[in-house]
Amino acid sequence: MDCVFCKIASGEIPATLIGESEHSLAFMDISPRQPIHILVVPRQHHANVSELAFAHPEALVDLVQLGSRVAAEHSTGSYRLTFNTGEEAGQTVFHAHGHITSTTPKKQK
Ligand code: AMP
Ligand code: ZN
Repeated sequence: MDCVFCKIASGEIPATLIGESEHSLAFMDISPRQPIHILVVPRQHHANVSELAFAHPEALVDLVQLGSRVAAEHSTGSYRLTFNTGEEAGQTVFHAHGHITSTTPKKQK
């Protein structure tokens, strides 16, 4: 399947990976719209978050948990998790993904 996030999951195209779990990967968005902009995606292909929720609910919980961990590592822990679902809602990549965005990067020690 010609899917950019499947290709990232298989290693066929590179991404800045920052975390992974049993069912999910976290990597930096290629064109960040906030100081912190991370994507959390299931390893398996599902077209959007609704399909993921019905087809594989444990994978959705795993994705939210990974998002929470990477948000804690990269931000103050105050973050948004958004899922664009459908073209008219702004979805451009039809492999489920959550956007973790934050305006407040964690201060370096
Ligand atoms: P959406 O508009 O919700 O479908 O979000 C798709 C997101 O994927 C956008 O924020 C893009 O910047 C991001 N994106 C597209 N291709 C890549 C890529 N190869 N690596 C990382 N992020 C990507
Ligand atoms: Zn895919």
